[in-house]
Amino acid sequence: TTYYDSDADLSVLDDATVAMIGYGNQGRSQALNLRDSGVEVVVGNRDDEYRERIEDDGFEALSIADAAERGDVICLLIPDEVAPEVFDTEIEPGLDEGNAIYVSHGYNLTYDLLQPPETADVVLVAPRMGGWAVRELYESGDGFPSVLAVEQDYTGDAKATALAMAKGIGSTRAGVIEGTADMETKIDLLSEQALLPIMMAAMTTKFEVEVAHGIPPKIVMSELYLSYEMAEIFEEMAERGYLGQLPFHSRTSQYGQLSRFDQFDPEPLREFYEEQLQGIDNGSFAREWSAEQELDRPGLKRLYKKYRNSAFFEAERETMERLDFGAEDD
Ligand code: NDP
Repeated sequence: TTYYDSDADLSVLDDATVAMIGYGNQGRSQALNLRDSGVEVVVGNRDDEYRERIEDDGFEALSIADAAERGDVICLLIPDEVAPEVFDTEIEPGLDEGNAIYVSHGYNLTYDLLQPPETADVVLVAPRMGGWAVRELYESGDGFPSVLAVEQDYTGDAKATALAMAKGIGSTRAGVIEGTADMETKIDLLSEQALLPIMMAAMTTKFEVEVAHGIPPKIVMSELYLSYEMAEIFEEMAERGYLGQLPFHSRTSQYGQLSRFDQFDPEPLREFYEEQLQGIDNGSFAREWSAEQELDRPGLKRLYKKYRNSAFFEAERETMERLDFGAEDD
């Protein structure tokens, strides 16, 4: 089911206080949107230099524990890696029966890392957008799509609360699709662990082939994505669909794209997707990532180091410098 503005009733939140825990990408944008929709919001954050920004934006800045105590809907918009511990130590002690816990990503629920008490509602509204776009698309009036899920309905009103929150942040304007936290986790992780790696492999391999055939790395890099042409193509795809935007390309390009897409063998890709999905479903990725974090992320650091010095990213860096500063030809 997809829900729009007319399906959601903001007055459900009339007597409620929303406690925004975290004031980063999502937290700040969602807090501002909710307030502009007439919802009472307090912000809970660590007491550091960012607290000033919260007050500058006109919110009451509280400690995380005080905000959780005050809130009826408690939004956990801090990094997923730290949310379970913060929840256990600072939020759960202040929860009242019937409070709602609100998250914007399913990960901690899917892998049981977050275990809210049975006496709370648990809802998810996950914008399919970065925090910056969440604010901008609210202000422009367009809204943005989200996935909505009710994971625990203690009060019987969890869905009404979730829909009101989705409306308050501006998402029901564009359409909110009901699913489960597991579905949201799955599509998110499969994009991260398969689609994006496949795209990166497609680009780095094109780079290697073209450079091996004598084309200067900078020409290769600017064609790939640094010229923004690819970004524009993706924007048009979002606007008009893939086939809808094809006529903006030359006929040669249209024929080249469709005929080779038709010939391309997707089976190895399918296998890679299935393999990653298995690791997502059986929890092996989550275990791998938890173990990695316990050791302070040695694997992630090693990978950054490995790729920072690769020919591809070196060419990217040099091309970006040139494009930015208009340096002379070398
Ligand atoms: P951010 O990294 O922007 O969150 C930063 C906030 O978390 C700051 O307020 C920061 O406090 C606080 N924080 C960081 N570490 C701690 C800690 N150890 N203890 C207490 N507070 C801490 O997060 P995002 O907005 O990117 O993500 C929030 C949620 O939204 C996640 O569940 C994420 O998956 C989801 N989401 C994110 C999207 C995105 O665009 N990034 C898109 C859709 C969903 P301080 O100011 O003190 O540093």
